[in-house]
Amino acid sequence: MSLLPDTDTEAKPPVTTFGPDFPFDYDRWISHPAGLGRLPDAELGQEVAVIGAGLAGIVAAHELMKLGFKPVIYESSRMGGRLRSEPFSGADGVFAELGGMRFPISSTGLYHYIGQVGIETKPFPNPLDEATPSTLIDLESEQFYVEGAGKGELPPLLREVSEAWSEALEGGADFTALQTAVRTRDVAALKAVWNKLVPLWDERTFYDFVASSRSFAQKSFRHREVFGQVGFGTGGWDSDFPNSMLEILRVVVTAQDENQRMMVGGAEQLPRRLWQLAPTTLAHWPAGTSLASLHAGAPRPGVTRIARDEGGAIAITDRWGDTRRYKAAIVTCHSWLLTTHIDCDESLFSQKLWMALDRTRYMQSAKTFVMVDKPFWTERDEKTGRYKMSMTLTDRITRGTYLFDNGPDKPSVICLSYSWMSDAMKVLPLDAERRVRLMLAALQKVYPGVDIASHIIGEPITVSWESDPNFLGAFKGALPGHYRYNRQMFCHFMQDSMPDAERGLFLAGDGISFTPGWAEGAVQTALNTVWGVLHQFGGKTLTENPGPGDVFDAIAPIDLPN
Ligand SMILES: Cc1cc2nc3c(=O)[nH]c(=O)nc-3n(C[C@H](O)[C@H](O)[C@H](O)COP(=O)(O)OP(=O)(O)OC[C@H]3O[C@@H](n4cnc5c(N)ncnc54)[C@H](O)[C@@H]3O)c2cc1C
Repeated sequence: MSLLPDTDTEAKPPVTTFGPDFPFDYDRWISHPAGLGRLPDAELGQEVAVIGAGLAGIVAAHELMKLGFKPVIYESSRMGGRLRSEPFSGADGVFAELGGMRFPISSTGLYHYIGQVGIETKPFPNPLDEATPSTLIDLESEQFYVEGAGKGELPPLLREVSEAWSEALEGGADFTALQTAVRTRDVAALKAVWNKLVPLWDERTFYDFVASSRSFAQKSFRHREVFGQVGFGTGGWDSDFPNSMLEILRVVVTAQDENQRMMVGGAEQLPRRLWQLAPTTLAHWPAGTSLASLHAGAPRPGVTRIARDEGGAIAITDRWGDTRRYKAAIVTCHSWLLTTHIDCDESLFSQKLWMALDRTRYMQSAKTFVMVDKPFWTERDEKTGRYKMSMTLTDRITRGTYLFDNGPDKPSVICLSYSWMSDAMKVLPLDAERRVRLMLAALQKVYPGVDIASHIIGEPITVSWESDPNFLGAFKGALPGHYRYNRQMFCHFMQDSMPDAERGLFLAGDGISFTPGWAEGAVQTALNTVWGVLHQFGGKTLTENPGPGDVFDAIAPIDLPN
């Protein structure tokens, strides 16, 4: 949350992604030895369709399989979805993280699955992180250079910006009380603060919060500008300035922007290993059963149509025209695909829900990577004594440059540029080569003495998520006034009061969650649908381990009047 050193050393419970909208203990639910629930014997082996083999789809399918269902996964592109570790050709184990790459330790649901499949993690080389040899902040050609965490060495302007942000959070969002309630999992205290903030900030932007705060209002415009460029924790946040302030509050209060780690060997391993995993506790299925074995090795093809048939079943048609019928199906792809790429019966959702699915806004994001012969940035410049190159935050087109050190004299990786929104749109029509040339030209101005190009080996890798027809964007970024849409989508797994025509199709994934852009949201919404499907088939959770639907009424997200 702050660029400044944390002086508060008192031992406290950890901050986790507990709410703030729906404070349910997902981590405890999924790690409880009694399991998630029981399915009636007559329903064991029933098929449930899961559309999308990203994290949400694979987590939902994994838990459904453990309960005794037969998940049938459909995927139109590549398993892993937005956890995509693209290998550089010609080098073993060298890859570019095109989607999720840094995972806050507060994502305890996500880390449960990382632990289950035994993926090692290590600190992500973020700006001003202990794991980062050096950080260079380049703004209007003025440079600030810091080694390691080095927060004490920040120049006055950056210190003032950081302090102003902390004060703004305290004054505008009762931040300490809010985060203490998250830490201690005190639902009443959390609701008392959060339920006041929702109507106050749903219709106002992040920029409004910053500009109207007393702490920033007392400072110069330059302070707000620098805050936008440098942000807090992980990099520039001005791309999020138009978003609803609630989106930002959720990130900081659940510490998504802090203590981030990367998955050694790539994030795509998580869904892939879960796909292969044969769980030790399985209802119905023989030992050794995995998602892979239930699918003859690969998911079914992409879905082109979702309809309600005459008998009331949900009929799913794949791209080759094969139609199968299910009592329940989980949709995990971006919601816009339901109106653009999948012919989905309008009657399957209420008009209010369609409004939410269609109005939901996705942000754009572009990344450009190169492989280099060695981590040359660990060498020192003879004249300045500084590291030759640093994790770099700048107002130039590259915005964020990240360095991935694979060990001395081993091919390593530079993410030349990670950008969002307008900065991502600037490069949308450009191919990888043109993007690399642009980024190198910008970095040349930051590091005039360093010949990055001379270290490049292999082919560059780039991505613009918005140009991929399987995604149409990077992740949700709710705009002012979108809280009601978020709530509508998130709560859709509670289907008892819905007309029969709208039941049986469940929504999960990043875009349905209250914490978009973070894999934890995909996990939590997937788990909601597991509860929803179990309930629909007459299954029950155990008294000692209630699920999200069992406690829904007590902790439901606040409902704003229409
Ligand atoms: C650029 C970027 C950076 C990110 N950084 C981070 C980060 O640092 N930390 C973090 O925690 N999270 C991060 N995230 C978010 C994280 O990657 C996502 O929350 C998570 O991967 C989403 O999983 P999902 O299953 O909800 O969606 P997806 O991964 O999108 O899965 C949906 C799947 O549905 C498939 N599909 C689409 N259409 C069809 C169809 N018709 N039929 C069948 N299948 C279909 C898609 O191909 C896809 O595989 C980032 C995301 C992006 C894009």
